[in-house]
Amino acid sequence: MKLAASAVATTSRVATLTLALVTALATAGAAQAATELTRVRVLATGGTIAGAQASATDYGYKSGAYDVNTLINAVPNLGKLAQISGEQVANIGSQDMNDEVWLKLAKRLNAVLASADTDAVLITHGTDTLEETSYFLSLVTKSDKPVVMVGSMRPATATSADGPGNIYNGVAVAASPQAKGRGTLVALNDEFHYARNVVKTDTTSVQTFRSLNRGPAGVVHTGKVQWFQPMDRKLGIASEFAVDGLDKLPRVDIIYAHANMSPDLIDSAVSNGAKGLVIAGVGDGNMTSAALDAVTKAAKAGVVVVRSTRLPMGLTLRNNEVDDDKLGLVASGELNPPKSRVLLQLALTKTTDVKRIQAMFYEY
Ligand code: ASP
Repeated sequence: MKLAASAVATTSRVATLTLALVTALATAGAAQAATELTRVRVLATGGTIAGAQASATDYGYKSGAYDVNTLINAVPNLGKLAQISGEQVANIGSQDMNDEVWLKLAKRLNAVLASADTDAVLITHGTDTLEETSYFLSLVTKSDKPVVMVGSMRPATATSADGPGNIYNGVAVAASPQAKGRGTLVALNDEFHYARNVVKTDTTSVQTFRSLNRGPAGVVHTGKVQWFQPMDRKLGIASEFAVDGLDKLPRVDIIYAHANMSPDLIDSAVSNGAKGLVIAGVGDGNMTSAALDAVTKAAKAGVVVVRSTRLPMGLTLRNNEVDDDKLGLVASGELNPPKSRVLLQLALTKTTDVKRIQAMFYEY
């Protein structure tokens, strides 16, 4: 009996040890699997993606009503794609985006990317100024790690809200090995775009972000990523621009051209302290003779003037219809007015030399 009892005790000790060993191995396996997942840090800034309506059928809503954890937790199976953690950098509608938040966001982004425990960053943002913030970040990010921005056209409380799907696909793009070194990408509605190329084209439709001149960088369906094309312009580490030590950006105003355009807004911008002007020109960056005289006068006074176009597609060409060499102006090439404004703000942190700034418009 004694023998049998000790045999039972030994057997149960072995069983306990075996169980402990199996549990330890399983825990180690799970930990390893967890660490193999890309570690994505979510920086939230507000927008419709974090917006709430009074009821699911209400048209109106308040942007930036939910915090980062609520956004992350609303996405089914996100934890299977990546290890997610989040923080709130701002909580505003992106129509209120400004230089101060840009600098804060860019500095935080660089700090997070420099940390060894982050592999990639996802930024949630309103869609109104997403094309500007993303281009700004792509020019001042000092890391090759993937950065993907997402927004949504419908608030979080809407029937068929597009935010959770955009976050899921955005994380998939951020975790994609080819996303390294591509600068900031913008992922919405099953497509993703280079920040430099993407524009918002529709006031309310979920299919609003397009790269009109070049097409999307790729597509992403239910987390499956397919790349279409590389980016040939300078960005990220290769860029000469940086936010370190900057606490403000030079004032650059955009002035919209139209039939019968007067010089008044140009003169007013200059007398109010603008260091740079972007003209959203008609056609190939044109404006009335009166406006052209006003920008020539501004350029002579040291204000850098960039001619862009109010048209959605095409390039604004140097010395084509306007003699930029003679008048001392810059042609924006592919960049639309808001993106030209971003590049000019950063360019003016380096130089006011028109030739150098024109070269930047060819390079970035
Ligand atoms: N007005 C909102 C914003 O830009 C629109 C959106 O997010 O879709 O914050």
